[in-house]
Amino acid sequence: MKVGIRITVILLLVLMLLTLCCACGKPFICDWCGYEKTGKKHKQEYLGQQLVICDDCYKEIKALIDAFSG
Ligand SMILES: [Zn+2]
Repeated sequence: MKVGIRITVILLLVLMLLTLCCACGKPFICDWCGYEKTGKKHKQEYLGQQLVICDDCYKEIKALIDAFSG
């Protein structure tokens, strides 16, 4: 009985971890480069439009902004 509960808890934890991994590894189309990307995505608002930007483009844009403002 106790072993059964432990296995159920472990299974639930594994399922939770898998769900978390799926949430961050879900592919999306980057509005900046137009490629399908997985991994970290950044939501930015430009001129009232919601843009989804991949991590690579986000770094690029941030570097540009830093170059202009710094
Ligand atoms: Zn991109």
